[in-house]
Amino acid sequence: MAKGTPMRSATSTDGHVREPLLEIRGLSVDYGIDDPVHAVVDVDLTIHRGEVVGLAGESGSGKSTLAYAVTRLLRDPGMITAGDAYFYDWPKGSYREDGDSLAPGAEANGVRRAEPAIVDLLSDDREAVRRVRWSEIAVVFQSALHALNPVLRVGRLLDDVLRYHEHGMSRQQRQARAAELLQLVGISPDRLRSYPHELSGGMRQRVMIALALALWPSLLIMDEPTTALDVVIQREILEEIMQLRQRFGFSVLFITHDLSLLIEIADTIAVMYAGRLVEQAPAKALFHAPRHPYTYGLTRSFPSLHGEKRVMNGIEGSPPDLRRVPSGCSFHPRCAWAMPECAATLPPMAELRDVSGTRSALCWLQDGQHRVPPELAVTPPALGSAAARPNMRGGSTAGPVRDDVAAAEEVPGHDR
Ligand code: SF4
Repeated sequence: MAKGTPMRSATSTDGHVREPLLEIRGLSVDYGIDDPVHAVVDVDLTIHRGEVVGLAGESGSGKSTLAYAVTRLLRDPGMITAGDAYFYDWPKGSYREDGDSLAPGAEANGVRRAEPAIVDLLSDDREAVRRVRWSEIAVVFQSALHALNPVLRVGRLLDDVLRYHEHGMSRQQRQARAAELLQLVGISPDRLRSYPHELSGGMRQRVMIALALALWPSLLIMDEPTTALDVVIQREILEEIMQLRQRFGFSVLFITHDLSLLIEIADTIAVMYAGRLVEQAPAKALFHAPRHPYTYGLTRSFPSLHGEKRVMNGIEGSPPDLRRVPSGCSFHPRCAWAMPECAATLPPMAELRDVSGTRSALCWLQDGQHRVPPELAVTPPALGSAAARPNMRGGSTAGPVRDDVAAAEEVPGHDR
């Protein structure tokens, strides 16, 4: 497909029609002009309707910059230097939870399918982008304490959003919706009168989620939403997000450095390193059978809740200084399988297909010309199998966080 042409048509993989919601192509972002830092480099990423996409990577790998760029929230000295980002603005209520959209012209449950309006997020005028931001693309930021206005009560914060975007609502209707939104995220409506500093960290983050959901968006971008919370609250909030996603059918771009968390909630995981996307795959396939050495290192960097204590090896070395990114494959100084060509030339993005579906890896080892080490050639769970599905759909079947690590120990060749 030519650069600058939106995808428009649906793609079909596992029998379900997958329609694009956000399509990012060739996105590059720099900080500064003289001696710029290349924070995001040539990233392709598509989020489909109803899909949960996890974006993982160490601090400084470009995850948050990517999210700020596509929502046009990037501040100086950040600058988008290349790429496209299209948002497919489908009619509200036209998505079905089973993943199948309605056939063109067909009706189901009284909802008629229509073609989406396409918003060019990087080139359309600011007003066009502002129209879909929050109402269709909502962002939950990292630190709720700093993101919430400290001098406004929770009720006023919610009311401001509704007043600005839902012009037809009366004051009473807005108050009723604000109370409903708080209840949706597990907070008593009497907290509408509270100031942010009167709430716990978990409650503040829930208020952020309520604000994000106020206009029933079709895409929720969550930038490390639970990082500052303890694991119990973190888990509660994740379960709530997944239940809400199940109920309202929105898609999620979940940004975190915690890969183990994504295994539970995401359909697809994309891993970034030094500004580039280095691997993308169905979540369980990525965890049980990574194809990129960096992903392999990440999957071996967190402990199991089961079995004997083990020494964690982690990944040798440190992430590179983005002002002096190593030549060729930027991971080569830390890679156990580095070859001479790795330092000389950037590998092509290898498009791979296996029993888990389609996936990609930015590594010379996966170009079809090299012998792939057994650690990077493990057979993944088959597409559609129970083992391939995320755990936390609807929250009802969720086991303890990191249960999958135990499962991984049973995967042949997965050396932990
Ligand atoms: Fe390692 Fe080379 Fe692959 Fe980079 S391209 S991850 S250095 S094997």
